[in-house]
Amino acid sequence: MPIDPMQPYDDDNIFARILRGEIPARRVYEDDHALAFHDINPLAPSHILVIPKGRYVSWDDFSARASDSEIAGFVRAVGKVARDAGLVAAGYRALANVGGHAGQEVPHLHVHVFGGRPLGPMLA
Ligand code: 5GP
Repeated sequence: MPIDPMQPYDDDNIFARILRGEIPARRVYEDDHALAFHDINPLAPSHILVIPKGRYVSWDDFSARASDSEIAGFVRAVGKVARDAGLVAAGYRALANVGGHAGQEVPHLHVHVFGGRPLGPMLA
């Protein structure tokens, strides 16, 4: 069921619980602003989720409310995760679903980093 991107932040959402270490995840990167871990249901050979450490429901919420340093730190983390995964030479896709039409399922902002094969056209 897609989330409502206008909903208040839910501290019990699955990614909040991963951030707190209550649920295991295959972590690949962490810094002051972001945590990255493998998607549990990968749609490409490399499918990593990058999430901010702050309490943001979606890209919309984050872009409206986060500080410049949080935004800069998070964007840099997404780039670093892709570089560290060796995805730059062949190319990759970074994507954030927002709300119902995009099918966002987890109400904590996450950027998907897909790579490792040709990814096809952007919209099916
Ligand atoms: P969305 O559709 O919200 O953009 O993407 C949510 C993503 O989170 C999906 O790709 C899904 O496989 C992933 N996911 C959901 N629950 C978990 C979990 O508990 N652990 C991990 N690592 N990924 C999850």
